[in-house]
Amino acid sequence: MARTAIPGRLNWLVATLAAARVETETARTLIFDVPDWTGHMAGQHVDVKLTAEDGYSAQRSYSIASAPDGARLELTVQRIADGEVSPYLTEVLGPGDPLELRGPIGGWFVWNPSATAPVLLVAGGSGIVPLMAMIRAHGATGSKVPLRLIYSVRTPADIIYASELSERSGASPLEITYLYTRAAPQGAPTGRISADVVARSAWPPEAKPAVFICGPTGFVETAADLLVAAGHHPGAVKTERFGPTGSP
Ligand SMILES: Cc1cc2nc3c(=O)[nH]c(=O)nc-3n(C[C@H](O)[C@H](O)[C@H](O)COP(=O)(O)OP(=O)(O)OC[C@H]3O[C@@H](n4cnc5c(N)ncnc54)[C@H](O)[C@@H]3O)c2cc1C
Repeated sequence: MARTAIPGRLNWLVATLAAARVETETARTLIFDVPDWTGHMAGQHVDVKLTAEDGYSAQRSYSIASAPDGARLELTVQRIADGEVSPYLTEVLGPGDPLELRGPIGGWFVWNPSATAPVLLVAGGSGIVPLMAMIRAHGATGSKVPLRLIYSVRTPADIIYASELSERSGASPLEITYLYTRAAPQGAPTGRISADVVARSAWPPEAKPAVFICGPTGFVETAADLLVAAGHHPGAVKTERFGPTGSP
C-alpha cells in the first residue's frame, strides 16, 4: 500500500539487482527485487547507500521510475562522468548484487491517479524519471486525465524511455513536446524552454493543471518562473531539483 514516509524513520533495506536496461549512452535502468518494500506513489524517491570494505559509505537520492503497481522497483541513473556513485550504479553493479536503499521518500512531489486535473510534466534530462513514474501510473490505472510533457534534452540520443514515450503518446492522452538544446533532428530547431514554448505547449492557466517540473536546479527554476509568469498559480507548480545530494 502506498504511504508517505519520513526519511529518519525508514529502515535501510537490502535490494538485489534483478536486471538492468540500457536507456541511453549514459543512462541505465536498474530493476530491483526489494523484500519488505511497502509500496510508493508516483514521484517519490529512495536513498541509496554504498558502503566500501573499509566502512566508508556514500549516499545519494534516486527517483523511482516504476509505477506503484509494479512487482519490482526501478531506478534510472544517469552517469555523471566524475561522479562518485552514478558510475558505479551504471557501470559496475551487476545482476544478483545487493544494494542498500530506504524509502519511499517525499509526499509533495507526487501524482495521485485519482486526481482529475489535467497534468503538465516538464522534464530536463534525467528529471524525466519521476515524471515517467507518473505517466506509467496514468497508464496502469487507465486514467483519462490528459497529460502534456515538455522534455528538454541535449540531443535526440539523450531521450530516456524514447520508445516507450512514443508508444504511450500514441495510445493515451499524452502529448509530448521535445526541446533539443544542442542538436535537433533534421529540420527541427534547437532551443531551450522559453515563454514561447510555454505558450505553445503547456496547458493554459485557465485549465488549472497540476504541474510537475523536475531536472537540474537551473532548469527547474527557469521553467517554474516561466509558468508562474504565464499565469499558473505558484501553489499548483511542484518542483523537484536533481542537484548534487551527497552523504548526510
Ligand atoms: C530527490 C532527488 C532525486 C534524484 N533522482 C535522480 C534520478 O532519478 N536519476 C539520476 O540520475 N539522478 C538523480 N538525482 C541525482 C543523484 O542524487 C546524484 O546527485 C547524481 O547521481 C550524481 O551523483 P554522483 O555521486 O555520481 O556525483 P557526485 O560525486 O555527487 O558529483 C560529481 C560532480 O557532478 C556534479 N553533479 C552531481 N549531481 C549532478 C547532477 N544531477 N547533474 C549534474 N551535475 C551533478 C557535482 O557537483 C560534482 O561536480 C536525484 C537527486 C535528488 C535530490
